[in-house]
Amino acid sequence: MHDSLFNRIEAKRDDLVALIQDLIRFPTVNPPGEAYTPCAEYLGDRLKARGFEVSYHRAEGEPGDSARYPRTNVVARREGTKPGPCVHFNGHIDVVAAGQGWTVDPFAAVVRDGKVYGRGACDMKGGLAAAIIAVEALLEENPDFAGALEVSGTVDEESGGYGGVGYLAKQGFFSRPRVDHVIIPEPLNVDRVCIGHRGVWWAEVETHGRIAHGSMPFLGDCAVRHMGAFLQRIETELYPALAQKRTEMPVVPEGARQSTLNINSIHGGLSEDFDGLPAPLVPDSCRLVLDRRYLIEEDPEVVKQEIIDLLEGLKHDREGFDYALREVLAFQPTMTDPEAPVVRAVSAAIEEVLGRPAEQVVSPGTYDQKHIVRVGQLENCIAYGPGILDLAHQPDEYVGIDDMVASAKVMAAATLALLGEAGDR
Ligand SMILES: [Zn+2]
Repeated sequence: MHDSLFNRIEAKRDDLVALIQDLIRFPTVNPPGEAYTPCAEYLGDRLKARGFEVSYHRAEGEPGDSARYPRTNVVARREGTKPGPCVHFNGHIDVVAAGQGWTVDPFAAVVRDGKVYGRGACDMKGGLAAAIIAVEALLEENPDFAGALEVSGTVDEESGGYGGVGYLAKQGFFSRPRVDHVIIPEPLNVDRVCIGHRGVWWAEVETHGRIAHGSMPFLGDCAVRHMGAFLQRIETELYPALAQKRTEMPVVPEGARQSTLNINSIHGGLSEDFDGLPAPLVPDSCRLVLDRRYLIEEDPEVVKQEIIDLLEGLKHDREGFDYALREVLAFQPTMTDPEAPVVRAVSAAIEEVLGRPAEQVVSPGTYDQKHIVRVGQLENCIAYGPGILDLAHQPDEYVGIDDMVASAKVMAAATLALLGEAGDR
């Protein structure tokens, strides 16, 4: 059905590999937000040469932005020759730190056995490169298309997206009538359409005590023991309750198809840089950070109230128990209608390119879709891209070249279908 388009993409295989290699070689590590501007300009220059109108948007005033580490985003738009819908591809250019355990240079973009290795190869410079190749092939094939094509390279996804998609969404870049369909080429596997993600609520709990000499603990009040009592209630009351909360969301992996809670950190008493010298003190403070992931069926207020209820219960039952609760981060779950045009178009294209039905999934963790849906008020958004999700953030991260090529075909075919839906806005 799209033989000529697909042949054109096949012919761009080397171009695609060179593009992802160039992207990996910008060490866009976040934090702190290294090399954002040259990477954004690289994308802008390339798309400008293909007739796109290119603009740069620095997220001044957002967390992390500074003269040394500017939060530079790039948006490129090309109008068709007739009015019609706009299809937008959004990729984050930031990557997490390389970490230990690599057998290749994480920023050299080594090609070996049909794979490109490097930090961000999978998450998500491979997806961004495939989207650009898809768009470029489309423009050569259909120069007289109706509507508009957009590609954005955004920052800070790994740290919440406030300086990236969140910032652009506040300016209207992800709202109608400017944009109709958004595809985020995150690494969800080449045959899966990701329609949303679970919600997240991070909070810090501090228990208070009273400092005293460690040899006479009865004269003080131990904040760590109070925290222990809180953990005990989490174990005996909250975990069993969370395990009962199942979802209709098709979350992968299967284990995340329920409410979950992680204890991210706990600290009480002597400071973390304790050097081994004794300091006989009863701790007067203990802090714990929790990471609660919740379901579309759950009310975010209830998610918070469950924790408050445990803490208030202890306040009632346990002598001297006192606490403070601070919200660190909160994002509600999102789930695009499985019948939405962008879901249908990408699913049909997957079936055409790969010869097997597309799987619809929901991500256990959040990504930039939250800003597009909540701030931009655009429901018609999905994640689709090459790369194996489990490899993201790991040492020796890679993306398969065949998968990149296949996903570029899927994105191009889906875009054609979406641009043809001018009457269906
Ligand atoms: Zn990502």
